[in-house]
Amino acid sequence: MYKALIPFLDIQKLDLEMIQLIRLKLQRQKELKNLHDIQSDLEKQVHIQKSQITETKLLIQMGEGDIEEIKAKLKKLEAQQNNVKKLDEFNALTHETNSADKDRIQKEQKLSDLYDRATAEEEALKNLTKTLDSTKESSKALEEEIIESIKRINEEGLVLKSKRDDQVKKVDTEVLKIYERLLHNKRDAVIVPIENRCCSGCHIMLTAQDENLVRKGERLVFCEHCSRIHYWQDSQELEGTVAETRQRRRRTTKA
Ligand SMILES: [Zn+2]
Repeated sequence: MYKALIPFLDIQKLDLEMIQLIRLKLQRQKELKNLHDIQSDLEKQVHIQKSQITETKLLIQMGEGDIEEIKAKLKKLEAQQNNVKKLDEFNALTHETNSADKDRIQKEQKLSDLYDRATAEEEALKNLTKTLDSTKESSKALEEEIIESIKRINEEGLVLKSKRDDQVKKVDTEVLKIYERLLHNKRDAVIVPIENRCCSGCHIMLTAQDENLVRKGERLVFCEHCSRIHYWQDSQELEGTVAETRQRRRRTTKA
């Protein structure tokens, strides 16, 4: 195996773990945001419902005032009617009384509808508040769990990073640059073994010539299909590295 490449197998293992951690963290952050969104949506609904109720109460107040006015007017008309002497004046007052009374009935009907509306709105607010409270209560434990797990992920990430920083100090910087660019693009393993003359990254068949180049291990060899870097698994140099352990495990499983 190309010597400069060997330490990168361990670095790659750390990097892949880090990628997994970042994915997990993003997912957990999304879960947390969903919890908050559900709550703030309910809070918004409660707020809207409350202002709706305030508006209805105001309309009721106005309606009640209007009716009081009409009733006072009716009383006045009645008193006037008792005192008139002429028939045409009496008739005019009757006409006015009838019209005011019609107005009163109409306004009372409207007010009664408003009372119904207020009751329904109060009921809806009660239900919303109940839902909000129970949502807050039930998501509290989950929220704490998510925050705790994000904290753990951050700690694990720091450990991985410090391990990686140590290992990176010892490697060939040119190979590092190439490796990091590939990793950044693929977000997946980019140094992969040849298995059954296939690239184990893209699983496309390679030529015997490609395989020989990799076996010789004199330089970096890239997959012409997916650009990953190839290595040969049976290399002596791999003893004690991640790849070697993995391979041995595989053999044991097969036996
Ligand atoms: Zn490939």
